[in-house]
Amino acid sequence: MTNQNSGQPAAYLQFCQEHMADMLETLKSLVEMESPSDNKPALDQLGEYLAQEFEHLGGKVTFDPQEEAGDNLKVEFPGTAGKPVLLLGHFDTVWPLGTLNHMPFRIENGRAYGPGVYDMKAGITMMLFALRALRTTSGAGHRPVTVLLDTDEEIGSTTGRPLVEATARGCEAALVLEPAQGLQGYLKTARKGVGDFTIRVRGRASHAGVDFEKGQSAVIELAHQILEVTKFTDLSRGITVNPGVVHGGTRTNVVAAEASVEVDIRIARAADARELEARFAALKPVNANCTVEITGGLNRPPMERTDGTVKLFHLAQEQAKKMGLALDEASTGGGSDGNFTSALGVPTLDGLGAVGEGAHAAHESILLEEFPRRTALLASLIGSL
Ligand SMILES: [Zn+2]
Repeated sequence: MTNQNSGQPAAYLQFCQEHMADMLETLKSLVEMESPSDNKPALDQLGEYLAQEFEHLGGKVTFDPQEEAGDNLKVEFPGTAGKPVLLLGHFDTVWPLGTLNHMPFRIENGRAYGPGVYDMKAGITMMLFALRALRTTSGAGHRPVTVLLDTDEEIGSTTGRPLVEATARGCEAALVLEPAQGLQGYLKTARKGVGDFTIRVRGRASHAGVDFEKGQSAVIELAHQILEVTKFTDLSRGITVNPGVVHGGTRTNVVAAEASVEVDIRIARAADARELEARFAALKPVNANCTVEITGGLNRPPMERTDGTVKLFHLAQEQAKKMGLALDEASTGGGSDGNFTSALGVPTLDGLGAVGEGAHAAHESILLEEFPRRTALLASLIGSL
């Protein structure tokens, strides 16, 4: 890593502050193009818009076409030398079409509100303006930059993952523009790995009054299984197991023939994945007349706090200091596409996006005061890598 642009942070900050109105205009446009993960036409429309915006900045756009999901978007910018820096994000949101009717984009109390504003349309806006700041503000040049935005991050990155991994492999570092942690705006240097299991129990139905003893209750068996997997939680190792959704039975007067539970698991260390998966696979019915079927597994490996990530964080801290900003780090239980890049050994720094609160909630919002600063920080970080 070199420090060619170390004098630039103040200039980037000035650029971003001067362009605050433009930034908000872009943010408003992105928020007002609703883009739920499951709506291809809406996602593709926003993808086209983003492609144009990045093309205006001199980027080379490639779409990764999908049949059902939205097309993923990759944009490459030339640089002076070295491997590219990856700017990573997603343009799907958890909000269905029509959310704007009751949750419009608005600016109030020093914040911008709206569906997806924080997670993570502000982060995408920051990419655009950090690149503009780098182009406009004279400096010693920077590495090539690759922007990767996928369309199904909020539902597990099924289509995004292979592209994220293939792209990250050739990159010097991955900067993830997911929201910062909390109103203090901590950067994220560790994320838990995430997985899902489904446990399906089959028993035998019978009339609860007439034939009670002929029944084999799947609901009772499921209750045993739920208590069993709950024992896998180990907070001291950062392992959590949450049976979040249960289904089972048909009527109160029927001994239930079927029941199931969907379980969310989180792990802090990749080394714990195999053991936890083995424990799920080894589940046996307590009632031998019932069957238990287990499906699922880990779908995002943990982003561990590696040396490469710590170095990136210190670099960000240094750049922030030059703008008079104090910056701290945090770990989170939530996953992102940064988990994939980190698991490949690519130094990954996450939470470089907006400072705000309320991801996936009605009060989703970003702090306007931090918006130009964090954008300038991103530009500085790209410039100093
Ligand atoms: Zn996100």
